[in-house]
Amino acid sequence: MENCIFCRIIRGEAPAYFIYRGRGVSVFLDIFPVEKGHMLIVPDEHYESLHDTPPRIAAKLFTVAAALVRILRNELGFPGVNVITNSGRPAGQEVFHIHVHVIPRWHGGGWRRLVSRHRLTDEEANEFIDMIKPYIHIIDEYLGEVFGEGM
Ligand code: AMP
Ligand code: ZN
Repeated sequence: MENCIFCRIIRGEAPAYFIYRGRGVSVFLDIFPVEKGHMLIVPDEHYESLHDTPPRIAAKLFTVAAALVRILRNELGFPGVNVITNSGRPAGQEVFHIHVHVIPRWHGGGWRRLVSRHRLTDEEANEFIDMIKPYIHIIDEYLGEVFGEGM
């Protein structure tokens, strides 16, 4: 898709803070985080939302989500995490390239407090990337277990 912002990020034509790239899936930081470490899991191929995403790719996105929740809760000690995908405009979808939000939560408020946002700063992004970097191999381990090593 020529003008899709997430396709442009994946092609390297627009900037993003990447957390993970590989096996047809990318993870990068949301530019307007709900909380520090707000990530988006995005397939390299363009699909609009979960309703038209092939099952294998949907499974891949949620396998990566499970790995990230594991990392955030077990390795980094976050007490809570939201995993969300918005499908369709009435559900709040703004970017029509399927993505899954993974939002570490320190401050509470549950899903009712998912809107207070600020612009991502370089400092915040780099701090979070340094924190999570040692555990990124867990994503490959999860994908390997579900889809096999050679995918
Ligand atoms: P939604 O479609 O409602 O799930 O939300 C799209 C998300 O993408 C929002 O949280 C935006 O802050 C985020 N977003 C939009 N453009 C960019 C971008 N260029 N880089 C990173 N995140 C983005
Ligand atoms: Zn796209």
